[in-house]
Amino acid sequence: MGAHGWTVRSGSTKGKWMTVRIQCRCGTVQGEIDDRGAYARVTCYCRYCQAFAQWLGTPGLLDAQGGTDILAAKPSRMRITQGKDQVACISLSKRVVRWYASCCRTPLASTAPTPDLQYVGIPMACIANGADVQKLVGPEGRAVANTESAHGPVRGSHIALTGVLLKVGIGVLGGRLRKDRGSPFFDENGKPIREPERIPMPEH
Ligand SMILES: [Zn+2]
Ligand SMILES: [Zn+2]
Repeated sequence: MGAHGWTVRSGSTKGKWMTVRIQCRCGTVQGEIDDRGAYARVTCYCRYCQAFAQWLGTPGLLDAQGGTDILAAKPSRMRITQGKDQVACISLSKRVVRWYASCCRTPLASTAPTPDLQYVGIPMACIANGADVQKLVGPEGRAVANTESAHGPVRGSHIALTGVLLKVGIGVLGGRLRKDRGSPFFDENGKPIREPERIPMPEH
């Protein structure tokens, strides 16, 4: 391991290789993603991410304008290594399943309702080695999405968001071409490992 937790592969043009470490606040649920599974970082201000954070009731999940700092990643590169029985999920809409650690109400991921889409959004709140991840995908707030539901002006750039969408799009397309359905949140039959609890969106 290098000084910053990097494993440098000699002879590799990529030059860096690290693990994104997932951990709920109480440490019961743990997991990892290897860096080939990290697409990009984005802060999402959508009402659904806000509602999820509010439903969890865990402080510190949203920034001052209601944004959630998210690592976009490839689920086939993600593993849950500990505490899988504490992993639960809700749905606030038909399109997205939101996963969390029921032991301490830490958000873990958002996914599509099926494993066909090689996308998982991991809140940085459950990433234990955020400083290392920052070297991989850049700082918080550079790319911003759904700013129309932000609570106030946000910095960030929509051009950076285009870069994020491109990286995610290429990853998702690659997964589709390979028929890659790997995900720690779905079983071999493509069923979610927990039945999502349907939660109504709060009234505004
Ligand atoms: Zn926990
Ligand atoms: Zn969102």
